[in-house]
Amino acid sequence: KSVQKEAQLVQASKLATLGEMAAGIAHELNQPLNVIKIGSDFLSEMAGNGKSIAEKDLKEVTGEISGQVDRAAAIISHMRDFARIADIEAQEMDLNKPIQDVFKMLGQQLRLREIKWELHIQENLPPIMGDNNRLEQVLINLVTNARDAMEKNPAGAERLLTIHSFTDNNDVVVRVSDTGHGIAANILDRIFEPFFTTKEVGKGTGLGLSISHAIVEDYNGTLTVESTEGAGTTFELRFPVSSRH
Ligand code: ADP
Repeated sequence: KSVQKEAQLVQASKLATLGEMAAGIAHELNQPLNVIKIGSDFLSEMAGNGKSIAEKDLKEVTGEISGQVDRAAAIISHMRDFARIADIEAQEMDLNKPIQDVFKMLGQQLRLREIKWELHIQENLPPIMGDNNRLEQVLINLVTNARDAMEKNPAGAERLLTIHSFTDNNDVVVRVSDTGHGIAANILDRIFEPFFTTKEVGKGTGLGLSISHAIVEDYNGTLTVESTEGAGTTFELRFPVSSRH
C-alpha cells in the first residue's frame, strides 16, 4: 500500500513538473520572441520607409536577433533532451569513462580561465547501469557550472575543480567540487527547478541541473549538493553497482 502511495506521489510530482515546465517554456520562449519582434519590426519599418540604417544600428539589431534565436534554440534543444531521457536504455558502464571524456572536451576551456583541476579516480570501478553519453552530459553540466562559479573569483582566490570517483558500500560515487562563489542557503533547494538560474540573461537557461537530475534518477541514482556560500560547492552523483556484476 505504501509503495503505491509513493508511486502516486512520484506521478503527481512529475505532473506538477510538467505543468511548471510548460509555463516556464512559454515564458522563456516569449522573451526572445519579443526581442526578435521588436528588432525585425524596426528593420522592416526602416526598409519600408526607404530609410537607410546606420551600420552600427544594423549590426546591433541583427546581432541581437541572432543571439535571441540562439537562446530559443538552446531552450528547444534542452527540451528535446528532456523528452528523450526515458528512451535511452541503460547498459553496464564505467563511470570513469565519461569523467575522462569531459576533460578531453573542456580541458582547454578550463585552462583559458586559469582553472586548475585534479582527478582522483579510483581505478577499476565496478560497473553501473547507465548511458555513457547521458552521463557525460550530466558531467558537462556540473563542470560548466563549476567553471562559471569560479570565473569571477577575485585575483588570488584559488580556482580549483576536483573530481573524485570511488566505491562506497554498494554504490559508485562521483563528487565534483569547486572553490567558487557557492550557493546561498535560501536558494539551495531551488537550483534543480527547471528554468531556475542566477546567471545573466543569455548565459543560463536554468535547465542544466533539472535535466541532470532527471537523467540520474532515470538510472536509479541520486544527485545531491552541498555548498558553503563564498567557499565552494560539491555535487555528488551516486549510482548502485550493477546487480549483474
Ligand atoms: P544554469 O547553469 O543555466 O543557470 P543550472 O540548472 O545548471 O542552470 O543551474 C541553476 C543554478 O544553480 C545556477 O544559475 C546557479 O545559481 C546554481 N549553481 C549550479 N551549480 C553551481 C555551482 N557549482 N556553484 C554555484 N552555483 C551553482
